[in-house]
Amino acid sequence: MTGKTTSSPAFTRRAFVSDIMTWQYEKPDRFALHLAHDREFIPWMAARGINAFSYIRHERDSRLKIDELLPLLNEHGIASEYGGHVLPLLLPRDRFAANPEFFPVGAAGQRNPRGNLCVANDAAIALVRDGALRYMRENPECSLLHVWGADVRDGAWCRCGDCAPLSPQRQYMAVVNAIAAALAEGSAAATPVVYLAYHDTLDPVPELDPRPTVSFEWAPRERCYSHAIDDPACTVNPRYFDSLKRYIDLFDGRGHVFEYYADAILFGGLGFATPAIIARDLRAYRALGITSVSCLTFGAFSVLAYPVNLEAFARATQSPDFDPDATLADVAAQRHPRCAPAMTAAYRAIARASSLILEGGGEVMRPSLNSPAPSARIRELRAARDILDDARAAADMVLDDARDDLTPAERAIWQYGREVVQGIADYIEAAGLAGDERRRAGEAAVGRIGDAITHVRGIDLALKGTWGAYDLESVRDIWLSALRRRFGDLQR
Ligand SMILES: [Zn+2]
Ligand SMILES: [Zn+2]
Repeated sequence: MTGKTTSSPAFTRRAFVSDIMTWQYEKPDRFALHLAHDREFIPWMAARGINAFSYIRHERDSRLKIDELLPLLNEHGIASEYGGHVLPLLLPRDRFAANPEFFPVGAAGQRNPRGNLCVANDAAIALVRDGALRYMRENPECSLLHVWGADVRDGAWCRCGDCAPLSPQRQYMAVVNAIAAALAEGSAAATPVVYLAYHDTLDPVPELDPRPTVSFEWAPRERCYSHAIDDPACTVNPRYFDSLKRYIDLFDGRGHVFEYYADAILFGGLGFATPAIIARDLRAYRALGITSVSCLTFGAFSVLAYPVNLEAFARATQSPDFDPDATLADVAAQRHPRCAPAMTAAYRAIARASSLILEGGGEVMRPSLNSPAPSARIRELRAARDILDDARAAADMVLDDARDDLTPAERAIWQYGREVVQGIADYIEAAGLAGDERRRAGEAAVGRIGDAITHVRGIDLALKGTWGAYDLESVRDIWLSALRRRFGDLQR
C-alpha cells in the first residue's frame, strides 16, 4: 500500500491564546457579548483540531481564567492553560512598604514596587514560588503554567549589586526553575512550566540551565510578517530564527512557538491575510522539531479581521503542507456562500496589501521613521492603499440580494485600513519636512489615522466584539498620543 493511510497532526499542542482583559469581565453586558462569541468559537476551534486554550493575565487583571468557559472547553476536549504576565502579581505589590528588599532596583538605582522581583532575595523567590503553587492547587486543570515577567520591553529585572551581574534571562530562569523544582516535588507528573522568550529575553544566553520540566515559549512579536520566519531574504527575521534555534539547543528541544497571526494590537486593528507566510512558518518550525504552537487571538474581532489566518493556522497545525490560496478561497466560500467569487477576489487583494504593509515587522501603528529609504516605504504603503480600494470594489460587486451581514462589516474593516495606511504614508512623509510645514503635515496625518475609526464604529457589535467596541478605543488613544509625541509638539 502506498500513500498515507492515517495522519496524525503535525503539532501535538495546537493552541489559541487570548488576553483575559479582552473579556471585559467587570462589565456584565460586555462580558455577555464575549461569552456569546465564545459559545460559537469554541466548537469552531474543536472542529479544526485546536486542543488547548491559553489565557494571558496582566497585572491589572483580577482573574486568572474565565470559569464560565471551562465546561464548554472540557466538553470539546480543549485543555486550559493559565498564567501570563503574572510575576508582578505573584509578589504582591503591597509588600513593598514592609519589604522593599523583595523588589527590583530600577534604572534610577532605587528599589521600586514596579517590575518583577529581586532574585537575590530568597524570601522574594519563595513568595513567588508559593504563589505559583497556589495557582496550581486552586486550578488543577491547568495543563501548562505560563509564568512570565512584567509586559515591558526593558527594565523590569533587578539591578542591585547581587543581581546586576546576571542578565535578565538568568534572573528570570532562577525564578522559573524555583517554581518548577517545587512543582516537581508536589506530584509525580509535574505540570510543565514555561519560560517566555520575548523582548529582553528573546535572545538566549548560554548560561541558562532549565530544569527538565521547564520549556521555553518563543514569542517573536516584532518579526516581519511579510516574509516567512526562515526567509533569508528578509532583513528582520533571520536574527529571530537564529534565536529560536539557539533556544532549542539550550532546552534540548523542549519549546513552544507563540505566534501573532491574529494580533489586533500588533496589526493596528487592520484586516490582514497571510496564509502563505503561516504555511511556510509552520513548515520551518516543524522542521526544527517544534511540536507545540499557539496563535494569539482577540475574540470576535480576530474572526472578523483575520478569518483567513485563523483557518490557515488551524490547518497548518494539522499539516503545514496545505494550499494557502485554496484556504483563502475556502474561507471566502464558508463566510460568504452567496458571493464567494467576489469575496475571494477581495481576500486575495487583502493578502497582497498585507505583504506590503507588514514589510519590516513591528507594530503597524508605530511606523519606523528610521527607514533608509522613506520614499520607497511611502510608495509601498500607497500601493497597499490602492489595493485596499480594490478589495472594497470587489465587495461592492456583490449584488444587493446576495449580500450577507458580514460583507459590509469586512468592507468597513478594509476601509478603516485604507485610511490608516494613507495616514501612515503621510506621517512618514511629514517626518521628512521641517518647521511649521512638518507640524501641519504631521497633525493632518495623525488626524487621518484617528478619523479612520469611524468605519469601525459603524460595525455591528456582535461582529466586532468587545475588542472592536471597547479595547480598540482605548488602545487607539495610546497610539495617537505616541504618534503625536514623536513629532514633539503636535496640537490636538
Ligand atoms: Zn536584586
Ligand atoms: Zn521581511
